[in-house]
Amino acid sequence: MESTEILIVGGGVAGLATAWHLAREGARVHLLEREELLGAHASSQNAAILRTETGDSKTTELMRRSAAFLADPPHGFAAGALLEPCGVVLVARERAKLPLADGRTSIALDGAALRERAPHLSPDIEYGVFYPREGRLDVSELVDSYARGARAAGARLETGRAVQSFVREGRRVVGAIDAHGHGIRAERIVLAPGGWAGNLARAAGSRLEFTPRRRHLLVTANDSGVDRTWPVVWRIDDDEFYCRPESGGLLICACDESVVELNELVAEPDVRLSIAAKTARNLPAFADADAASFWCGLRTFTEDGHFAIGPDADVESLYWIAGLGGHGMGASPEAGRLAALHVLGRAETETLAAAFLPARLAGAGATRS
Ligand SMILES: Cc1cc2nc3c(=O)[nH]c(=O)nc-3n(C[C@H](O)[C@H](O)[C@H](O)COP(=O)(O)OP(=O)(O)OC[C@H]3O[C@@H](n4cnc5c(N)ncnc54)[C@H](O)[C@@H]3O)c2cc1C
Repeated sequence: MESTEILIVGGGVAGLATAWHLAREGARVHLLEREELLGAHASSQNAAILRTETGDSKTTELMRRSAAFLADPPHGFAAGALLEPCGVVLVARERAKLPLADGRTSIALDGAALRERAPHLSPDIEYGVFYPREGRLDVSELVDSYARGARAAGARLETGRAVQSFVREGRRVVGAIDAHGHGIRAERIVLAPGGWAGNLARAAGSRLEFTPRRRHLLVTANDSGVDRTWPVVWRIDDDEFYCRPESGGLLICACDESVVELNELVAEPDVRLSIAAKTARNLPAFADADAASFWCGLRTFTEDGHFAIGPDADVESLYWIAGLGGHGMGASPEAGRLAALHVLGRAETETLAAAFLPARLAGAGATRS
């Protein structure tokens, strides 16, 4: 049987960020990714937006720490800039729906000031808060940078190999078995399987539950009316919607979500109608824009909607970095760092680490029979 110190299951941004942090600390890391390519699922199907305001103070704190990394990563980490700070404007029809601006990292934009930043937005929407240091991520460079750095620090990243089951000795997980029946012993196992977190929880004997929810994105055809310096515009009231410039057109999301079977993840044509309707209401000049591409991906949530980072409550030597919902790309530097601290037994010194412990989740704490 092969053996390693730390086995990571899942080669999306969560598993790779954790591998990078652990390998830099000198841990012996072996990561298994089922697909032939790293980052093939949510980590390459997302909207690539860095937005730190989440409505939850602990998550927002984590996002702000991550934003500092993304704006100014360690020397040599990435081949180019990871963040294009085009700005993010949260908008609503009522001021009360918006967070308060602090005048430093966020600026209130009403009426004419909002029109100036976002001339494409319907004049019905009069209130905004602008976050000038946030914006668009280079998600492909981010995934590549974690992978490159992890390999350079000695991690083994193996693609085309799926974990099927786990080996337990009492309450402790001691290894995993792949789809061909080959085993790997490990002192600790980190689960970073994105939408498949619920399946792997059951396979490992954990009581944690996760819900993967499908969301669609559309990019319009090239349009000379799009100014590529426009910020991300995110409507956060009851008619949630966002857009940003992409490839000469606009990337548009109607903020749909539906629970689907993992093996039935296909784009639903009806969602195009709701994107068209929201586009007509929010961006009237683009009401008739043609689509150049349309796709969907999974955002995966814990039972309380907050991240699960840290040790499993039922199974010893098992750790999680999962349930990253719609924030995993932007959250990855700090989420991966906290996951690595837990695995290395050094998380006690971090007050933020306690906020995301899987043990808080309903059902955690009792052993699955
Ligand atoms: C439409 C959409 C828009 C989004 N927009 C944003 C955004 O603007 N900003 C942002 O920060 N986030 C955004 N997100 C969220 C972000 O994409 C996710 O939070 C993030 O990609 C999650 O990363 P992950 O590594 O947990 O999951 P994934 O990227 O899905 O990676 C999990 C990996 O685990 C592998 N795996 C699963 N089971 C096994 C197994 N048994 N054995 C081996 N490998 C396995 C899978 O093949 C997969 O590659 C968006 C998501 C979607 C769907």
